[in-house]
Amino acid sequence: ERQLVWFRSDLRTLDNTALAAAARRGPVIGVFLRSVEQWQAHDHGANKIDFWHRGARALGDALSGLNIPLLHREIDTFDEAPEALLKIAREYDISGGLHFNREYPLDEWRRDEGVMDCFKRAGLPVNGYTDAVAFAPGELLTGQGDYYSVFTPFAKAWQREVDAERLALRDTPSAQTRLPIDNDRIPALPEAAGKPIDAKRWPAGQDAAADRLERFLRYRARHYKKQRDFPAVRGTSELSPYLSLGMISHRQCLQAVMNENGGSLADGDAGLTSWVNELIWREFYQHIAFGYPDVCRHKPFQRHTENLAWRDDDGAFAAWCEGRTGYPLVDAAMRQLVQCGWMHNRLRMVTAMFLSKHLLLDWRRGEAFFMQYLVDGEFGSNNGGWQWAASTGTDAAPYFRIFNPTTQSRRFDPSGEFIAAFLPELASLPEKARHAPPRDLLDEIDYPAPIVDHKTARTRALDAFKSLKDNH
Ligand code: FAD
Repeated sequence: ERQLVWFRSDLRTLDNTALAAAARRGPVIGVFLRSVEQWQAHDHGANKIDFWHRGARALGDALSGLNIPLLHREIDTFDEAPEALLKIAREYDISGGLHFNREYPLDEWRRDEGVMDCFKRAGLPVNGYTDAVAFAPGELLTGQGDYYSVFTPFAKAWQREVDAERLALRDTPSAQTRLPIDNDRIPALPEAAGKPIDAKRWPAGQDAAADRLERFLRYRARHYKKQRDFPAVRGTSELSPYLSLGMISHRQCLQAVMNENGGSLADGDAGLTSWVNELIWREFYQHIAFGYPDVCRHKPFQRHTENLAWRDDDGAFAAWCEGRTGYPLVDAAMRQLVQCGWMHNRLRMVTAMFLSKHLLLDWRRGEAFFMQYLVDGEFGSNNGGWQWAASTGTDAAPYFRIFNPTTQSRRFDPSGEFIAAFLPELASLPEKARHAPPRDLLDEIDYPAPIVDHKTARTRALDAFKSLKDNH
């Protein structure tokens, strides 16, 4: 009986739960639904859409090696998915049913529920698998039976409960007998998808991802704890785009760590175990998106912060987006985002806090802007990171903890190397002056004065949060 595997953000043949399960039952046909309009409605921009597109092509090649054809269909929005898939099931005589790996943000979950209903009504089997996370949302709950809302106890429970079976790599199917079905040629993206950055920066596919993981483990993982906060050092894995579209799985990453670390995820090399912790953060935010679906409806996790008096200042927002705030680390970071489709984690925290606290602009504007440029844009982590920085979320930074962008700069980019790389206008300054260029030089180097004064802005943000508390 033929099986249909619907690939979404799990673009790999290795360690793919849905694919492995389907292949055990019968010959497999794959399908990818391209939904540019829907992706754009979720704020995904040209960089991520292009990466998705190249990932689908790379998946098609990998599947070809197993004689599995990959069909390609265009839909505008998620609500067209049930019909599109059912049509394929009928056209290609898929009696074995549909298989896919579950996704947890609200719209994706609803899309999948719609597909399941539709297939059930048509009398066709349909299976959703837990794949992107070790524990499906709901499997790890607090003693009171609630979803965790704080990371540390979640991570402890995760470490305690995780076992070999959950992390075991799923079988890669062996090549099947060729079916009389050709691979669809995946057409170029429509112009409306926008113009992405150079594709060479983020080569797509599971081979590129495996290569990155291997290089990270060989050269950087053991120094990760010490180096991960310094944007001028290439200290992190840069695997986020690959994890977000499933060109590599968390199990592949964790198995590789265990291989290097005497079988352990929690003890042993400090670099490796702190990297594991970051992968657990990713899972935590997927649970949050599912367990507290209001965050998917543009609501703050801490509801009372809904009343915060965010300022309305398009000029300040534009300066932040374009890297013209006059705070070199913030500006260099924003240029990194736009030029590379990626930003270092330390800088995501610094820039997000700058927008929400120093400029007192609604974090949702920043969340959307990040999404529009990130190759790794992922709802749970992006929303979680933004709400953390804005002190509206889980584990939120206490509202009175406001990074001083200049101090952060001195601490995490001590020689101003990162700043000079992305703000060439500051490269001629002595290293120490790059964190806060002298006012009398600004005209000459064509760099703006700080858009806000740190102390004044800090007080303004504290007042806004305090008045919220008073009224709460
Ligand atoms: P590494 O340090 O090598 O970490 C390994 C993996 O762990 C990452 O690839 C990622 O999948 C996961 N991870 C690491 N840090 C975090 C974290 N804080 N939260 C959740 N997962 C994490 N990450 C995204 O994948 N997509 C996003 O859209 C995203 N938006 C963010 C927005 C803000 C405001 C903040 C503060 C963080 C955001 N992050 C996001 C988390 C983090 O910044 C990136 O995952 C990380 O910078 C990616 O680089 P890396 O792959 O080298 O990470």
